[in-house]
Amino acid sequence: MCPPKPNASLSTAIGAPATRGALAILHDVTQLERLERVRRDFVANVSHELRTPLAAIRGYAETLLDGALEDPDNNRKFVEVILAQATRLTNIASDLLSLSELESNALKVPAQPVSIRAALESALRTVESAARVQGVRLFCEKLDDYTVIGHELRLEQVFVNLLDNAVKFNRPNGEVQVEMRGNNGKVSILIGDTGIGIPSEDLPRIFERFYRADKARSRAMGGTGLGLSIVKHAIEQMGGTVQVHSRLGEGSEFTIELPTA
Ligand code: ADP
Repeated sequence: MCPPKPNASLSTAIGAPATRGALAILHDVTQLERLERVRRDFVANVSHELRTPLAAIRGYAETLLDGALEDPDNNRKFVEVILAQATRLTNIASDLLSLSELESNALKVPAQPVSIRAALESALRTVESAARVQGVRLFCEKLDDYTVIGHELRLEQVFVNLLDNAVKFNRPNGEVQVEMRGNNGKVSILIGDTGIGIPSEDLPRIFERFYRADKARSRAMGGTGLGLSIVKHAIEQMGGTVQVHSRLGEGSEFTIELPTA
């Protein structure tokens, strides 16, 4: 990673007969370089993600001003596209804000005891109508109550992101199953679906920011590609883990494990 510099002054100093000792200071910059690369990639990805909706908004607004406003067959459709793309930008901005808060630990409220069941039930209510529209049924089993230490809204966001994906990447008449199990000071929450599944080659990368296995469906459903990285960050910050098992064409199961309070 770090080849020695030929004729560096260091080797002269060590070998020099007049000196009694030598001090070598070596800096391992591997991590710094990695972080710099991650930062560069992130900025490039954000710009790329913003460019598409912005171009669409601009294009459709120009088309409307160029005469399509008077075209009753299309004007409403064009305004709907503008609205959908503006919603996408709002989602990206709010997910980026969540990620940056998680990374900088910037939440003003200190972590406190949170009921898993309350967060889960609230998340289920949030995705209920989307599930109905998609023809996906939600099932819950054994929702006992456990308390963990964290932030209520964050935990709710984690469950909304997972449930929303389980609905979005499902099939008509599909199912989403939620289960909770507690043992040995830990609680596991399982969210399984009968959806399209995730190809095994994509599985190791789906928690990365902006990584999408099914790009077309994610974009069509207003996805930002940031949901799972928010899940991972938030759960790890609470001392927990998140795992995924998936079979292509059969479904996926996400398991969150958290230490109980
Ligand atoms: P998105 O906004 O696209 O949902 P996420 O970070 O939440 O972004 O998920 C990343 C990708 O992982 C998705 O685009 C999708 O390809 C895949 N994915 C996540 N959850 C599921 C699921 N339950 N079933 C199938 N694919 C999923």
